[in-house]
Amino acid sequence: MTVGLVPTMGYLHEGHASLVDKAVSMCDRVVASDFVNPTQFGPGEDLDSYPRDFDRDCALLEEHGCSMVFHPSVDEMYPDGGGKTATYVEILNDMPKQLCGKTRPIHFRGVCTVVSKLFNIVMPDKAFFGQKDAQQLAIIRRMVRDLSYGIEIVGCPIVREADGLAKSSRNTYLNPEERRAALVLSKAVFKGQEMAEQGEKDARKIVKEMTEMIEREPLAKIDYVSAVDGVTMEPVETITGTTLFAMAVYIGKTRLIDNFIVEVAK
Ligand code: AMP
Repeated sequence: MTVGLVPTMGYLHEGHASLVDKAVSMCDRVVASDFVNPTQFGPGEDLDSYPRDFDRDCALLEEHGCSMVFHPSVDEMYPDGGGKTATYVEILNDMPKQLCGKTRPIHFRGVCTVVSKLFNIVMPDKAFFGQKDAQQLAIIRRMVRDLSYGIEIVGCPIVREADGLAKSSRNTYLNPEERRAALVLSKAVFKGQEMAEQGEKDARKIVKEMTEMIEREPLAKIDYVSAVDGVTMEPVETITGTTLFAMAVYIGKTRLIDNFIVEVAK
């Protein structure tokens, strides 16, 4: 019997549902975890205000054929209390320092720690992660390789709203004006994709075009727009192999991310 794990922080939407659907299609039993993990939030981030609706999550999971939901308390996951732990799983190369790691220095340590714990508790054969969090997916793949977890990591494409905005639990923070402004992320992604499809190989030109588009939106403040190697997360200037174009942009107080990948033969 194969067991699939879909780790989530709850407040589920069709992006999460697509992971469950993929897991159901590949596994005999699917376990979703629903846990807002305190160790991946830095001081001043939105841990306390992060949206939660466990009953609605359960209904969505059941509808999509999920067999079981793991919904631990913070103290169950971190018995030292207060969401603290003495033991972390941390990648020590530059991968977690790039992109989101620049403004969220402890984020990926928290992600690796909680995902390791979920792997140890659920013992899945396969685990499903969204390409929406591209750096997270690359880091989890690396952790699984380095720690010899015999778990297959399955990446799933970004699910978007009809108008292009990548679905995110954090979209609920946006007021109507911000919701409109947030479209600048996906518009920049589509523009960058189009340039790459038309043969542009200079990653800096694509990043510049995307940056300028976002800068024209008055409610947007760029955290980063970058092109990196899709596996190592090292910055690149030219598209070769797997190149990840990723961005984090504040719309008002809400930090949103989006990305796309370009694959070319090396
Ligand atoms: P979260 O609950 O935001 O931590 O996300 C849990 C999982 O769902 C992660 O693997 C995310 O990458 C994935 N996910 C979140 N939003 C989307 C989306 N719009 N499309 C695909 N996967 C997503």
